[in-house]
Amino acid sequence: MTAEGRRGTALHIDWTRCDGRGVCTELLPDTLIRDEWGYPLARHGGSTVVLEENDARRAADAVRLCPRMALRIR
Ligand code: SF4
Repeated sequence: MTAEGRRGTALHIDWTRCDGRGVCTELLPDTLIRDEWGYPLARHGGSTVVLEENDARRAADAVRLCPRMALRIR
């Protein structure tokens, strides 16, 4: 996929599935933070974050490794 094709790609967290173990926040420490209960949040708030191009690979790893299948790339 070209850089232009990736523009607007976003990672979405489904908090109804998430158990807050934090695999995704360890893979994407500049993009996701954890709330006081350990659940991931987009660094700027909310459950969806637009991915920088250099986060795309780690985001794909997070989707693959999430034990609750709570992450989606759109
Ligand atoms: S890896 Fe999945 S289950 Fe774990 S904190 Fe992230 S979204 Fe939640």
